[in-house]
Amino acid sequence: MRRIAIFDTKPYDREWFDKQNTAYELVYFENKLNEKTAVLAKGCDAVCAFVNDDINKAAIDILYENGVKLIAMRCAGYSNVDFKAAYGRINVVRVPAYSPYAVAEHAIALLQTLNRKIHKAYNRTRDFNFSLIGLSGMDLHGKTVGVIGTGKIGRVFIDICRGFGMKVIAYDLFPAKDAGIDYVELDTLLSASDVISLHCPLTEQTHHILDAQAFSKIKPGAYIINTSRGALIDSEALLQALNDGTVRGAGLDVYEEEADFFFEDFSGTIIRDDVLSLLVSKPNVILTSHQAFLTEEALENIAFATMNNLDEFFSGAFLTNEVCYQCDAGKVVENCRRKEGKRCF
Ligand code: NAD
Repeated sequence: MRRIAIFDTKPYDREWFDKQNTAYELVYFENKLNEKTAVLAKGCDAVCAFVNDDINKAAIDILYENGVKLIAMRCAGYSNVDFKAAYGRINVVRVPAYSPYAVAEHAIALLQTLNRKIHKAYNRTRDFNFSLIGLSGMDLHGKTVGVIGTGKIGRVFIDICRGFGMKVIAYDLFPAKDAGIDYVELDTLLSASDVISLHCPLTEQTHHILDAQAFSKIKPGAYIINTSRGALIDSEALLQALNDGTVRGAGLDVYEEEADFFFEDFSGTIIRDDVLSLLVSKPNVILTSHQAFLTEEALENIAFATMNNLDEFFSGAFLTNEVCYQCDAGKVVENCRRKEGKRCF
């Protein structure tokens, strides 16, 4: 029986992988996959990894030396995998979509909580404090939301915002034709939006897409929502913009240094990250620890799609969800094997 090492697992991952598993010996590790832990996969045919694993060249070398043939990412994003190092040695697959609704709905939850101050109201009423002073929000109806990245999640988010009666504008490097979306330049989006929500991937181009310069252009009093990747925002610049009132509030499901903290309980320790501590301490910041994906439907779909990815790989079939550092980097690859219906290598 093929052995699959599944890293960075929690009880909810195990529950859904065990339910969907039909053909494999699943070996669960709580550790994140990185160059120090890669050796744990010795004797396994594939590894399954998640958003905060660090699958750099050193980790890939160790996996390869120990016989691992496939890295099955159980997430959509893959900025934490060194594809160049994997190319030609270990195939990489991912789960491109498991529930755009889960993430888009969480983005809305962050916005609504911030705007209507539900987090403050919850604490007040638990203390029998029924005062409304300081809890005013704004109507979302009629406000402008700027959506950066109009892929699967961005579009669900747009639909929900339209349901609220918001005006939607968007920026995307690859605007969708015939989608009925009002695309604008990034600077226009920054200066015109009452709410800015990030739904693009983390790439070299989008790293710190919201930096000090961008914050200097935004409409004063805008809300910032980030359910995409932490490093889309320069966190220190965001702190400054929150301090000077440029940003009215921030709803963050991701943080650029989250790999050191997210998914674990640090409640009994001192957090050695001043930026994170300052963000968490602000009443107009809601931080969740990369939980936007966490719905029953998404967990089921992730496990199901990962099993399909494994089945395809071990049966020798074409890999529907393969990621290749050449094609996915946007390079024109002559004689691209994927376009010929084959695996990347
Ligand atoms: P997608 O690939 O369907 O859409 C991404 C969109 O971003 C595309 O339209 C693409 O053209 C656009 N884009 C690419 N480069 C850009 C750039 N430089 N500037 C502007 N737009 C650009 O992806 P998706 O499924 O909608 O997911 C979006 C992101 O959400 C993922 O990359 C991932 O980082 C994040 N995500 C987060 C969670 C979570 O739990 N918080 C879960 C899943 C996905």
